[in-house]
Amino acid sequence: MNKKLDLAEIFYSLQGESSFAGFPCLFIRLAGCNLRCNYCDTTFAFETKFGLSVDEIIEKIEEYSPVNLVEITGGEPLLQDEVYMLFHALHQKKFTLLLETNGSLSLEKVPDYVIKIVDVKCPESGEEGSFLMENFRFIDPEKDEIKFVITNKWDYEWAKKFIFRFKIFEYRIIFSPVSEILEPHFLADWIIADKLPIRFQIQLHKYFWKDN
Ligand code: SF4
Repeated sequence: MNKKLDLAEIFYSLQGESSFAGFPCLFIRLAGCNLRCNYCDTTFAFETKFGLSVDEIIEKIEEYSPVNLVEITGGEPLLQDEVYMLFHALHQKKFTLLLETNGSLSLEKVPDYVIKIVDVKCPESGEEGSFLMENFRFIDPEKDEIKFVITNKWDYEWAKKFIFRFKIFEYRIIFSPVSEILEPHFLADWIIADKLPIRFQIQLHKYFWKDN
């Protein structure tokens, strides 16, 4: 019998981040996280709210057919070994799969068909240094994304140095301001002034549903 995954929520909405922003998407939020970022807006996901097997998850999300974009997020989804069975089952069902991960755990076993959105935590997150450097080997510049969430100018300069130091311009890089802390136009101005070949992004859902 399949072990149940620990979940925080399953919901349907518009994707608010990544190059899939704006598409209808099903979100499977797994419970538990090994980090404690200062700006975390999903602290409710630190604790398990309910458990479902892979089959039960598939059954639930098939209710939303024909939506076929699924994001597996957290918390930190890679903490649970059963997530690999979930990847496989969703792939068999022909879903397009996004994985949002905090970058601190190995991506080695994540299958190629999963589109990875990988955080590099900046200093103001309180989790600087959590990025596992060997993960560069498992991030595909053609399809995966590396995300820096920026709190202030210090974070911005740190992120800029990081991408120059490790020469990662061939990757798809996203800089995103921390909602309600950094006004997006500041980050946009810094990127333009420095001519950085990266992508600016705001969390769309924070603009649609500010109070929720
Ligand atoms: S990694 Fe994500 S879920 Fe975990 S504390 Fe940081 S922002 Fe929250």
